[in-house]
Amino acid sequence: MKTGRKSLASHRRIVIKIGSALLVDRATGLKTAWLDAMCADIAALKASGVDVLVVSSGAIALGRSVLKVPAGALKLEESQAAAAVGQIALARAWSESLSHSSIVAGQILLTLGDTEERRRYLNGRATINQLLKLGAVPIINENDTVATTEIRYGDNDRLAARVATMTGADLLVLLSDIDGLYTAPPHLDPEARFLETIAAITPEIEAMAGGAASELSRGGMRTKIDAGKIATSAGCAMIIASGKPDHPLQAIETGARSSWFAPSGTPVTARKTWIAGQLQPAGEVHVDAGAQTALRSGKSLLPAGVRLVAGQFGRGDTVAVIGVEGREIARGLAGYDADEARQITGRKSAEIEAILGYAGRAAMIHRDDLVMTETAPRVDVRSAEKKDKADA
Ligand code: GLU
Repeated sequence: MKTGRKSLASHRRIVIKIGSALLVDRATGLKTAWLDAMCADIAALKASGVDVLVVSSGAIALGRSVLKVPAGALKLEESQAAAAVGQIALARAWSESLSHSSIVAGQILLTLGDTEERRRYLNGRATINQLLKLGAVPIINENDTVATTEIRYGDNDRLAARVATMTGADLLVLLSDIDGLYTAPPHLDPEARFLETIAAITPEIEAMAGGAASELSRGGMRTKIDAGKIATSAGCAMIIASGKPDHPLQAIETGARSSWFAPSGTPVTARKTWIAGQLQPAGEVHVDAGAQTALRSGKSLLPAGVRLVAGQFGRGDTVAVIGVEGREIARGLAGYDADEARQITGRKSAEIEAILGYAGRAAMIHRDDLVMTETAPRVDVRSAEKKDKADA
C-alpha cells in the first residue's frame, strides 16, 4: 500500500547519507560544530524509537586535509592513501560526537562484493542488525583503501541505498549541498522547478537528473536518482535534502524544502529486493512484445520470448531484461549461462533438451527469480507547482 510522506520520527529505521562537503572544509578540516549538531539530531530520532544508520563520506576529503594534499584530481592510489588516513579521523570524530549523547558508534567498511554476493550480503546484514539491536549507530563507508576501479561503488549515494535495502530501512535520507530534485539543473536553467514529491522514478525523472554521460551530473543528481531506484523499488522512501543548515534533520522535520520519493507499493521478498538492487548485472536478455506482456503479468521468461542475449554470465548471475523500447524492464537470475541461453534463444521450451543435450529448466528466468524494475510513466509535479506559487 502506498502511503504519503510522514515525519522522520514516525519511521522505523532510517539510513542517513552525509556528503563529504558537509563534514570537511578544505581549509579548516573537520566541521566539528556541524557534526555535533547532526549527532544531537540523531540522538533525538533515536530517543523517539527510530533505528539510525549513517553512511558517512569524507574519508578521502579528510585524509587530504590531514596529509595536506594540494587541490586537484587524485590518482586511485592517492585517494586510497588519503582514505586510509581520513577514515581513522572520521570514525573517531563520529564516535566522540555521538558519545556526547551517550550513543555508541560502530564502524562498518563495505566493498562492492559485500552487497553483491549473496552470502557476504547476508553476513553484513547480520552484523549491522546486531549493532542496531545493541543500540549502537553503525557508521558506514566504502572501504576505499582496498576498492579498485572495477570493484567499487565510487559513490556513497548508491552504497547508502544498498545499505537501506539490506537492512530493511523504511527511509533513506541523502544530505548534501543539493536541496532536492529540479526539473532541470537550477544553476543553468532559470525556469527549473523544484519537485517536492516524486511518485515514481520514470524515464522523465531520470532525464531531469541528466544522462549518465553528462559531466555535470556525475556523482551529483544522477547517482542520487540511481539510489532512489534501488531504495524505492524495495519499498524504502527517499528524501534528498540540503545538509547545509546546522541540525539538518530538525530542519527537515520543521518543513525545510526537500524532495520526497515515494516507495514502490508492491511488497517484494527479501530475495527479490537483493536481485533488484544489484549494481552490475552481468548481462542482458532482450525480449519481444509477447514476453514483455507476460512478464508484466507475473509470468516467467521463456526462451521463446527472448530475441537476443548479450554479455557473459553464469547460471544464477543477475541479468537485466531489456524490453521492446530498449529500456530495462526487469532483473532476474539467469536459469542458463550465457552460451546456453544464446543457443535456446527464440526456441520452444520443449526443444531445450534436444539443443543442449539435457533437460534444463523450462524458463530462461523463473518468476520467483525475477523482479520488475520499470515504473509507469507518471510524473507528479502538481505539488511542486503549488509550492512554487506559494513561494512566489
Ligand atoms: N567513500 C568516499 C569517502 O569517504 C566518498 C564517496 C562519495 O562521496 O560518494 O571519501
